[in-house]
Amino acid sequence: MDLGIAGKRALVCASSKGLGLGCAEALASAGVNLVMNARGAEALEQAADRIRTEHGIEVQTIVCDVTTSGGQEQVIEAAQGVDILVTNAGGPPPGMWSDWDRDDFIKALDANMLTPIAFMKALLPGMMDKGWGRVVNITSQSVRAPIAVLGLSNAARTGLTGYVAGTARQVAPYGVTINNLLPGIHATDRADALDGGVASQKGITLDEARAERAATIPARRYGTSAEFGAACAFLCSQHSGFIVGQNILLDGGATNLTM
Ligand code: NAP
Repeated sequence: MDLGIAGKRALVCASSKGLGLGCAEALASAGVNLVMNARGAEALEQAADRIRTEHGIEVQTIVCDVTTSGGQEQVIEAAQGVDILVTNAGGPPPGMWSDWDRDDFIKALDANMLTPIAFMKALLPGMMDKGWGRVVNITSQSVRAPIAVLGLSNAARTGLTGYVAGTARQVAPYGVTINNLLPGIHATDRADALDGGVASQKGITLDEARAERAATIPARRYGTSAEFGAACAFLCSQHSGFIVGQNILLDGGATNLTM
């Protein structure tokens, strides 16, 4: 399917690895020029070089922490005029409800709620002026059904979801769509970190922890960054203009919901 977005320009935050990289690669394969970002320069430059070579598109890299105001300024300056915005950042650590204090919540809210909001606030006006734009926020299945040990994530991402629900309807008249993609478990470093915690807690190996989790998923496997990226690219395409303010689960059926 021709996504109809060749020649457009996208900012994909937190995109040297994992789901962000999957989105960057899928957009690049649709002919979209990229601004990519991560804190670590080495993996980011390697990913950018590979994408340039494979897809023949322009890639600008910005090495910074997107959850800081300085980092946001750098990225927003480089991304002025983008047609597509994919927000992403690392997820908060797991823990117990009784351990988290105000600082932990502020950190999670900054990373997974206020950072994507800052990017939308800065970049939506340019899209609205052009009469076309696409925003995809990478959130989590924890928005639809809580993951108890990820209370910081549950809280911050649900806040972002509420913001998007209203804002998406305010910008839709200008040809701009905002939607959220909700990953269930995908085979990335983040999944390894979460499974590593389970493995050490239960005294089992990482492979055993993965197998246990996969067995609970109707699809009986983890998702891949490539299939996540393909869904993101579709939401950024010409075909998705009537999809507004939606929360789309990509979880292999793991969240047991009728709707
Ligand atoms: P990942 O494999 O750990 O990759 C994270 C990427 O983001 C890396 O490129 C990392 O590079 C970059 N990054 C992290 N924090 C950053 C920051 N503050 N500023 C700039 N770049 C940053 O993670 P993932 O699995 O792709 O997860 C992406 C998001 O989806 C996370 O919020 C995660 O909680 C959420 N999620 C993931 C899953 C899953 O199963 N994978 C499920 C539900 C939700 P640097 O470290 O070099 O900065």
